[in-house]
Amino acid sequence: MSSAMKIEAIRRQAADLTRPFRINSGSKFRLKDFDPGDTLHMKPGDKLHAKEDLAAGVETLARLQDILYAQDRWGVLLIFQAMDAAGKDGAIKHVMSGINPQGCEVYSFKAPSSQELNHDFLWRCFRSLPQRGRIGIFNRSYYEETLVVRVHPELLGGQRLPEELIHKRIWKDRFQDIRALERYLARNGIAVCKFFLHVSRKEQKRRFLERLENPDKNWKFSPADLHERGYWDEYMEAYEDMIRNTATKHAPWYVVPADNKWFTRLVVATAVIETLASLGLQYPKVDPKVVKDLEAARKSLRGG
Ligand code: ATP
Ligand code: MG
Repeated sequence: MSSAMKIEAIRRQAADLTRPFRINSGSKFRLKDFDPGDTLHMKPGDKLHAKEDLAAGVETLARLQDILYAQDRWGVLLIFQAMDAAGKDGAIKHVMSGINPQGCEVYSFKAPSSQELNHDFLWRCFRSLPQRGRIGIFNRSYYEETLVVRVHPELLGGQRLPEELIHKRIWKDRFQDIRALERYLARNGIAVCKFFLHVSRKEQKRRFLERLENPDKNWKFSPADLHERGYWDEYMEAYEDMIRNTATKHAPWYVVPADNKWFTRLVVATAVIETLASLGLQYPKVDPKVVKDLEAARKSLRGG
């Protein structure tokens, strides 16, 4: 089997697992159709099996990343959004565990600094976009501008926007600008793939309690997270509207069930594999003249 055919087989296999969670077009999207506890046909007893699949997936991912890096044409941007304690950090850590750190960069976007507030909202993310041949990971992103800022519209006041630009249609405008950015990236060979880790309110409560009760996890707890939990329904509406407005074929959303970490990680790894395998990656072909030079070099080394 040629290597292109092998990669196509990998892509097809990955797509079989991710299909129920991939949103290519948002018009009919409803969050309530998605169950945070979903594990497809897998049962808790399959957890070990899923961990083996994840390990195999991480290896496949590392091989694809090696070609991405060598070919140096495509870039890949992975965006992670979620409520607190949904497992963003863990998913990023596990999924990226096998890949070459030289070819990957992670950026976390927190509440904007005063310097960042001096700029348009895409600025800080734009300057962190991945180079060709690299995987860039955004732990939170410009999508916060349609989530936390929408749930707390008073934050707009701190953004130093001209007053006449703060109006009711601002969220629609932001979706339009984000769609334009992502289309631009797709047209420039930067593949965008977005994850919403969908945790239930009940499971978030369990994880917060665990953080409070286990001294080794205390550092993960922040009272601000509890405050945001009070706005759960508003956040869910904002997430739903975000996906409805920004899911496209070239920059799909994956709504990943996040109540079971083992399943979340498997779906995320598989979706990243799917994205890489869809790019038609191949190692650069060496010029026939260079092949001759390589042959001469090999002979000379052997002889010496
Ligand atoms: P962890 O808590 O696991 O370290 P985190 O991503 O939750 O990771 P925090 O230090 O808690 O990191 O800070 C992130 C906070 O910054 C979130 O509450 C998020 O909503 C907020 N934030 C991110 N982008 C923006 C933005 N553009 N405007 C306002 N707040 C933002
Ligand atoms: Mg936090």
